Amino acid sequence: MPSANLIDSHCHLDFEIFDDDRTKVLQRAKNNNISDIIIPGTEKKYWNRINQLCKKHSQLHACYGLHPYWSNSHNKHDIETLDAYIDQNTPVALGECGLDFRPEQADKKTQLYFFEAQLTIAENLQLPVVIHSVRATEDVIQSIKKFKKLTGMIHSYSGSLEQALQLIDLNFYISIGGSVTYDNAKKIRGTAKTMPLTSMLIETDSPDQADKKNSDKRNEPAYLINTAKSIAELRQDTVDKIAEQTTINAKDLFSI
Ligand SMILES: [Zn+2]
Repeated sequence: MPSANLIDSHCHLDFEIFDDDRTKVLQRAKNNNISDIIIPGTEKKYWNRINQLCKKHSQLHACYGLHPYWSNSHNKHDIETLDAYIDQNTPVALGECGLDFRPEQADKKTQLYFFEAQLTIAENLQLPVVIHSVRATEDVIQSIKKFKKLTGMIHSYSGSLEQALQLIDLNFYISIGGSVTYDNAKKIRGTAKTMPLTSMLIETDSPDQADKKNSDKRNEPAYLINTAKSIAELRQDTVDKIAEQTTINAKDLFSI
């Protein structure tokens, strides 16, 4: 157990799957030194749910956005609604937004429309963005290059080390998830080992993407320590050092 606090930089604690035991999940997070948790938005209909939850618990921080996974259920008016909602409700970031090029997902054109419209809002409001990128890192880099003043994070990063360094140059943080705990995850383990710690965040992406130890379970913030431990081993550093620096980074990015 590290003595330093950890921040779970991406966790869907608003999802219904936590409705029955959310208080216990939060208690376990606290017992495991998780000081803060960032809750990303997915669809317009859930922004209020996140808003209520974050008002109730001061360690939870809201983001509002339109997730690429649901691109076919968003409509163009949602962009204006998002702009107004953010203006009234002061989230710590816009998101999650992004690109997901798995075959079952919406077409590229639709996804790019919602992605770049959200980047425009974030840049105008000087808010960081939380980006979801699956099989799309190159396209994400091309999009964010168009927005010179933008900053943010790539959540559950899965690109190459070289792309991570490009993203860091563009003022983005790289968020490492539970996949780094799996021995066969060579690419992300290489990135976590080599990239600058000053640009790293850690996350659970609960309820998905549990670490190796908890692979058969619903993921939750208390498990974040396993990701920190794996990164510490790879870098031959202490868990405290990883916890301390990623906490500084998250506080800096989200202004919390
Ligand atoms: Zn997510």
